[in-house]
Amino acid sequence: MTDPRRALPSVARLLREPAIAALSEAAPPNVVVAAVREAIDAARKSRSGAPADWAADVQERLRRRTTPSLQPVLNATGVVLHTNLGRAPLAEAAAAAVQAVAQSYSTVEFDLGSGARGHRADHCRTLLAELSGAQDALVVNNAAGALVLALNAMAAPGQVLISRGELIEIGGSFRIPEIMEKSGADLHEVGTTNRTHLDDYREGIEGAVAILTVHRSNFEQRGFVSTPEAAELARLAHQASLPYIYDIGSGLLADLSPWGLDSEPTVQSAVALRADLVIFSGDKLLGGPQAGCLVGTRVAIQRCRQNPFARALRADKLTLAAMEATLALYREPERALREIPVLAMLTLSAEELVKRARALAAKCPEALHPRLEAGESAVGGGAFPGAVLPTTVVSLDPGPLGADGLALRLRVGQPALIGRVADGRLLLDPRTLPVDAYGDVGLALGRALEEP
Ligand SMILES: *Cc1c(COP(=O)(O)O)cnc(C)c1O
Repeated sequence: MTDPRRALPSVARLLREPAIAALSEAAPPNVVVAAVREAIDAARKSRSGAPADWAADVQERLRRRTTPSLQPVLNATGVVLHTNLGRAPLAEAAAAAVQAVAQSYSTVEFDLGSGARGHRADHCRTLLAELSGAQDALVVNNAAGALVLALNAMAAPGQVLISRGELIEIGGSFRIPEIMEKSGADLHEVGTTNRTHLDDYREGIEGAVAILTVHRSNFEQRGFVSTPEAAELARLAHQASLPYIYDIGSGLLADLSPWGLDSEPTVQSAVALRADLVIFSGDKLLGGPQAGCLVGTRVAIQRCRQNPFARALRADKLTLAAMEATLALYREPERALREIPVLAMLTLSAEELVKRARALAAKCPEALHPRLEAGESAVGGGAFPGAVLPTTVVSLDPGPLGADGLALRLRVGQPALIGRVADGRLLLDPRTLPVDAYGDVGLALGRALEEP
């Protein structure tokens, strides 16, 4: 028989090979054994049989097993709220707050004054109410969860009116009709995909227990379209003594209109038009940790707090620490724009971006012929879908590696660098790169060119 798979070595024999035995000094022995087993298994299944170099093969498998799967990356895509890259990076103050409670006991459910049990739901409560103008607030694990909680607490098993134009998919298989069904509320669709009138809601209000508006976060409707103002819906709901629930999605607390970003509802405006509950994400435009915020009337928040889903969806202490520190920055709006990374990135001036692109290009290897080009960044994360953010990118000529080849090497390097491929070139947008990471970007590019 000439089948190369017949003559594979045993686990014990490979472990005795000096180059493989040496690996046990850098990794726990059982992990080395697992990597050896995996190498032999792979050789058995592969048509070409044994690898040319067992030690190198085992070492590579060991490296993959011991590299954390969740690791920081350098985002050079220019997409500010990149959902796959973790949405909002935290502000310095928020990271410090997480650090402080992470390795210590904390007041997460403890009242220092009385020495008695405190309430997890009390953290961020005052800050969120103060900043939004609402009577009360509650933070849970994420906004999708907040919506389930709100519908279950305020509407289930009754009928909730929603426009057919808002039966949307948010991404990550989060679909409004499915969420509503799981919440126990009964979906009552009104209007059409492109046009829904106040009268459509009026006709359905008999038998309804709540009106829901879901912001069309990630797409725009143009042309023959119409939707009633949220304020009109709030009024209609209140005339019928029903609660009005408004899922605004992105949690915009800052005024970004001076930068041309004015198409998203702010938290304050949603509260001001007298929504009973306003729901939003913590890690989109708010720029905090993953969380779902509910702000609204005392009665509505009380119903949510007492609902069993509030316990199932409760926020972790690290989340609450990061959220509280992030919200505190909003007490000084200018400070928020400066110190909350998402806001700082969105409000960079054209001149600053040129300056940064120049500094970044200066760190890139000559072999890649870096040059500056006008480009466009994106807000991402299902916010300001139509917004164009002009930027200046560093455009790299990948040479024989090709743009996809270079992009791959950068992705699997340490640290991983994620760029954008366009027209055979690799583009790096300085908007989403920390200034102090340019040196690392240069080194990563250098290493990508070196490898065989
Ligand atoms: C993003 C979004 C959600 C979901 O928020 P998560 O915090 O990711 O759960 C819900 N509703 C709207 C309108 C959104 O834009």
